[in-house]
Amino acid sequence: MSTYTLPKLRYPYDALEPHISRRILELHHDAHHAAYVKNANVVIAELDRARDAGDMSKLPALERALAFNLGGHILHSIFWQNMIPGGGGRPDGELATTIDRDFGSFEKFRRQLTQAANTVMGSGWGALLWEPVGGRLIIAQIHDHEAEIAQGGVPLLVLDAWEHAYYLQYENRKAEFFEAIWNVWNWHDVAGRFDAARKLDVQLAGVHAP
Ligand code: MN
Repeated sequence: MSTYTLPKLRYPYDALEPHISRRILELHHDAHHAAYVKNANVVIAELDRARDAGDMSKLPALERALAFNLGGHILHSIFWQNMIPGGGGRPDGELATTIDRDFGSFEKFRRQLTQAANTVMGSGWGALLWEPVGGRLIIAQIHDHEAEIAQGGVPLLVLDAWEHAYYLQYENRKAEFFEAIWNVWNWHDVAGRFDAARKLDVQLAGVHAP
């Protein structure tokens, strides 16, 4: 049976400095992300035991814990790959033209994604998604790791707005973190996700993706 595993970072812990400090990346990856992976596996095992025992009394809590921890694992796995030392700038090609089409301009897109992260109440994320039913890019404001996300949307670029993502370095100046992170985005990675997501046709709402 498959288990979830913590992916290795593709760059050293200090590679995103000065925008993200070494200590933040160490804790964020090795402690926080690792805990979501561990707990996702624990919940899967508990669901197996509950089915075997015929005991569904804890099912609501287990389903909630699965969404939270598996969502955390998936979002962090994307987040690490969305960043690269020396990144930033802007996308080009079809991703750039589709951002222009769906948000009006790169500047408007940047403002909306930054604000989505900056205005999350409590813990959450701002995220750029491919929405396959309408065939468009949308921005989601994700609470915790799973709530308020449209079914079937494919995350392409995710911005962690939990305090653990910035507090050691930026303290209460989170808006500075949400600006600094635009210096490390890996647009090549985002464009690859965009191309793959558009080819995916799982026939949501009985509609083939355009
Ligand atoms: Mn996080």
